[in-house]
Amino acid sequence: MTASLDPRIPAGALADKWDRHRFESKLVNPANRRKYSVIIVGTGLAGASAAASLGELGYNVLSFCIQDSARRAHSIAAQGGINAAKNYQNDGDSIQRLFYDTIKGGDYRSREANVYRLAQLSVNIIDQCVAQGVPFAREYGGLLDNRSFGGAQVSRTFYARGQTGQQLLLGAYQSMMRQVRKGTVTALANREMLDLVVVNGQARGIVARNLVTGAIERYAAHAVLLCTGGYGTAYYLSTNAVNSNVTASWRAHKRGAFFANPCYTQIHPTCIPVSGSHQSKLTLMSESLRNDGRVWVPTRSEDKRPPEQIPESERDYYLERRYPSFGNLVPRDVASRNAKAVCDEGRGVGDSGLAVYLDFTDAIKRLGVEVIRSRYGNLFDMYTKITDEDPYKVPMRIYPAIHYTMGGLWVDYNLMSNIPGLHVLGEANFSDHGANRLGASALMQGLADGYFVIPYTLANYLGGTSFQAVATDHDAFRESEATVQANIDRLLAVKGSKTPRQLHRELGALLWDEVGMARNEAGLRKALGRIPQLREEFWQNVSVPGPKNNLNKNLEYAGRVADYLEFAELLTLDALHRTESCGGHFREESQTPDGEALRDDAHFSYVAAWEFNGMGKKPTLHKEPLHFDYVKPTQRSYK
Ligand SMILES: Cc1cc2nc3c(=O)[nH]c(=O)nc-3n(C[C@H](O)[C@H](O)[C@H](O)COP(=O)(O)OP(=O)(O)OC[C@H]3O[C@@H](n4cnc5c(N)ncnc54)[C@H](O)[C@@H]3O)c2cc1C
Repeated sequence: MTASLDPRIPAGALADKWDRHRFESKLVNPANRRKYSVIIVGTGLAGASAAASLGELGYNVLSFCIQDSARRAHSIAAQGGINAAKNYQNDGDSIQRLFYDTIKGGDYRSREANVYRLAQLSVNIIDQCVAQGVPFAREYGGLLDNRSFGGAQVSRTFYARGQTGQQLLLGAYQSMMRQVRKGTVTALANREMLDLVVVNGQARGIVARNLVTGAIERYAAHAVLLCTGGYGTAYYLSTNAVNSNVTASWRAHKRGAFFANPCYTQIHPTCIPVSGSHQSKLTLMSESLRNDGRVWVPTRSEDKRPPEQIPESERDYYLERRYPSFGNLVPRDVASRNAKAVCDEGRGVGDSGLAVYLDFTDAIKRLGVEVIRSRYGNLFDMYTKITDEDPYKVPMRIYPAIHYTMGGLWVDYNLMSNIPGLHVLGEANFSDHGANRLGASALMQGLADGYFVIPYTLANYLGGTSFQAVATDHDAFRESEATVQANIDRLLAVKGSKTPRQLHRELGALLWDEVGMARNEAGLRKALGRIPQLREEFWQNVSVPGPKNNLNKNLEYAGRVADYLEFAELLTLDALHRTESCGGHFREESQTPDGEALRDDAHFSYVAAWEFNGMGKKPTLHKEPLHFDYVKPTQRSYK
């Protein structure tokens, strides 16, 4: 396996790189494509779009997911929208502006070439999805409607009410199922990938557990695509689906794939606040609500009056006050930190004091209740169901929560990891968002990766690589299966007294307190001391009831928690080593006089890609320097 961190960025002017690369890439003859098998793990927007595209091209695709149906992937939860530089609004958008906003939004910690390609492909995605029948919202004249999201001063977000992810996923899913019918894609639901199989340095297969029968299964292929989503659930409470996990990425990491920037986690400013220890997940209130909702807290601390009794003069619309240009639409990292700051000052609202108001009174007066209902009706209903309060009448209470992870497995421009053949798409890779993702850009990236990037870059890899025949009786598969089996047996043998959930909750609380919205050296060191203790406790005292050769949710979950307990150490170590603040990674030691994130470009303008050297051993840090030839890094300002 090569340890090179060459991002393989094509030569030439930024705007021409992707065209040129496509022209120079190797192709696979249509008649030969069915001779290549491709494993795709994950059926969210990244995985389903890749399966549909590669199936249509004629490759022999094996598609895996944990859920009982491909269309239940976490992507279905996405609410607010998907960005594209179509400029339908005529308000000044362009590919260059989307590129610029994304580089700046990511606090100058992403690769220019990838981000430019993403902005270019954004326009194709909308066409593809419309052709599939995705019911995007439309204006009265029939054109697709747009709304605004944070970190941009143009309206470029396409949406389907508050259910954009669901509609996009149905489009990708039906395209994928068309290929299942045609025989190019085999859908293997209820399977959890538990190991990556590497033969002669190439990714050649996976070992998975059949979650219904408990059987350990081996699958061989010419390439493996991980589209397994983000690792926000390491924090226990997050807006992610509870099935989201780090297992596939972490186990590939243990087989040699570098993990990049794990400390770049995104905290979303508008979630329904934590209400007690009974919760297993948190609910997002989409960023789109900040188009019309105004964020405020009382000017006086400990002001416990109900919101309607607090006069205008005693309200602090702190985002509008501090950031007059962007107002309530500052990016997520900025909005989250400001919410924390006002709550730390004792100005938070609600019983816990850990909430701020998101108020629609003015918008309802200005636009009428029906307009607000048509824009956000399902989100308001969801809020009412969860809180028993009516946001048409009283302001929502919101607080930041873990939501997205910009870190992930390291990939080059071709979306290939440092293990040849192992490609990583969607939220599972680290690539395009830098230290902070702008709203509505995850769906854009997942679909760009699956529909438009991987068909070319995978052909380039397959067409340019010689393969020896590898079947599932190869020693590497045998060894991998034995490792997986031993791990399962070990989990079942502990027979302790704590549930995986109890231990996961403890880990999550520790990460939230010490590696959450604000981080400092003492806290990070504390977490680094505590995580191995928690891991030890897990292996001494975890209780995993039920058998291994049957459906066993406890066993599945315990395996994932065991991986979080290993991965959390790397996340924290990465946060400790990066002594600068950037985007979602806020080191208290590194801030401007007015409390904004202060980067240290001289020392940290690189991607940190970590190599696994064994548990308990220090990982090796590989650096991919970042070069900014087209956008000059400056102190990020939304004032
Ligand atoms: C509540 C919420 C709202 C959001 N709203 C927006 C929005 O409006 N706009 C936007 O751009 N982004 C939004 N996001 C972010 C966006 O939804 C995600 O980043 C994106 O959907 C991730 O897609 P994905 O295909 O990479 O992974 P996922 O959709 O997470 O899919 C992962 C897939 O991998 C499978 N999998 C995982 N591990 C394994 C394993 N070991 N073995 C087998 N299969 C495995 C799962 O079964 C699943 O099929 C939102 C996120 C949340 C949480």
